[in-house]
Amino acid sequence: MKLAIIGAGAAGIVAAITAKRQNSKLHIDLFDNNKSIGKKILASGNGRCNISNTILSESNYMGENPSFVNPALKEFNYKAFEKFCKSIGLLLDIKESNKVYPQSNEAKSVVNLLQSTLDSLNVNIICETSINDVIKKDKTFTLSSEDKTFEGYDKVLISSGLSAAPQLRATEDGLNIAEKLGHSFNPTYPSLVGLNVESNYHHKLAGVKKEVTTTLLINGQKEQDTTGDVLFTKYGVSGFGILDISQEASYQLSLYQDIKLNINFFPNSNRNELISQIDTLLKALPNENASVLLTGLVSNKLAPVLLEVCKLDKEIKAKDVNAKMVRNLANQLLNWRLQIVDTQGFKHAEVSGGGVRTDEVESHTMESKKVKGLYFAGEVLDVTGHRGGYNLHFAWASGFIAGRSLAK
Ligand SMILES: Cc1cc2nc3c(=O)[nH]c(=O)nc-3n(C[C@H](O)[C@H](O)[C@H](O)COP(=O)(O)OP(=O)(O)OC[C@H]3O[C@@H](n4cnc5c(N)ncnc54)[C@H](O)[C@@H]3O)c2cc1C
Repeated sequence: MKLAIIGAGAAGIVAAITAKRQNSKLHIDLFDNNKSIGKKILASGNGRCNISNTILSESNYMGENPSFVNPALKEFNYKAFEKFCKSIGLLLDIKESNKVYPQSNEAKSVVNLLQSTLDSLNVNIICETSINDVIKKDKTFTLSSEDKTFEGYDKVLISSGLSAAPQLRATEDGLNIAEKLGHSFNPTYPSLVGLNVESNYHHKLAGVKKEVTTTLLINGQKEQDTTGDVLFTKYGVSGFGILDISQEASYQLSLYQDIKLNINFFPNSNRNELISQIDTLLKALPNENASVLLTGLVSNKLAPVLLEVCKLDKEIKAKDVNAKMVRNLANQLLNWRLQIVDTQGFKHAEVSGGGVRTDEVESHTMESKKVKGLYFAGEVLDVTGHRGGYNLHFAWASGFIAGRSLAK
């Protein structure tokens, strides 16, 4: 049997290894448009590769039908993944929030071990080849790149990912190929990405970083809360607290909804405590500028902007700030409102939302319900994981299921 796998990322590589281990007689051509395999694995987790998570459930995934992930997560749970890693010589390390990393702490070692496993199994890796068309005639598939055709495949797996990080040669070719073969897909959008803010003063906060609670408001309705670091940048906001919320925010932006963030700079204080802290600061040195004294509480970039937002003179003396003004300062710090107008786009996103519609794919085999012999795995499907190793885990798990079905 002759198989083609389009895309040598996490999903395609595990599929090739699994299929070959089940049936060594298979001929597998593993195509990738890059010079070498696993480019996104190398970039993941800032080169450390947050490879998986020990606690995996449907609730860590988004998409039209998150329960699609259940058979893959059940069959290829964390224990099964650990076993697979051991089988290629990769040891794992569990860190904070159940996040899993390679013991080596280097994504490079993951890719090296996957590469040597593929080599030892005689998987035929064809790099620098961008597949742009797949047709099925009679019972076999023909693949085409710009200048070549590859014929006679009994089965084809599309594991070509989506468009996050185009600088790593990420494409949406998988969607175009799937559509030509009769599949439909949900539109893509950048996910796990910084958010752009519209404001006249926001750029003055660039560089401020703080652990805050961020609330996502969609058309004024509270949708989601996260507590984590927020980094203010010239364009808007980033940091782990924002990346977590960016998934829903970006999806809703793609639907042209009104997106605002409410930032609470003091999640561990209540309003009265904060009012009293500000009051104490201002009363300590009544003749000092309020903006200077406020730096005892907030960053020196935030203090003058806070006065500006509260419509107070930036030179106002502490003794001239009355009780109403203090209440207003506290309210602003507990409810810092940001109007989100865009995301930082695919170039800065870790993952793409949207993808091939999962109700057209059989979740126990990853086979297309429309074209026999056609399979999907990984990010090309409309499945997006939260931050914490969930995206790579779904790629490994769906690749494993697809590989097992390919071998049959
Ligand atoms: C900067 C960054 C950091 C990340 N960090 C993490 C992390 O720490 N933890 C985590 O879980 N996830 C992380 N992710 C997300 C994770 O890397 C992806 O979700 C996962 O790699 C998807 O695997 P995949 O095999 O489905 O697709 P991909 O890894 O994208 O693999 C698809 C492959 O197909 C190739 N290809 C595309 N089009 C074609 C074509 N037409 N012909 C041939 N080949 C083609 C691509 O070049 C690519 O090599 C990160 C992503 C990025 C960009």
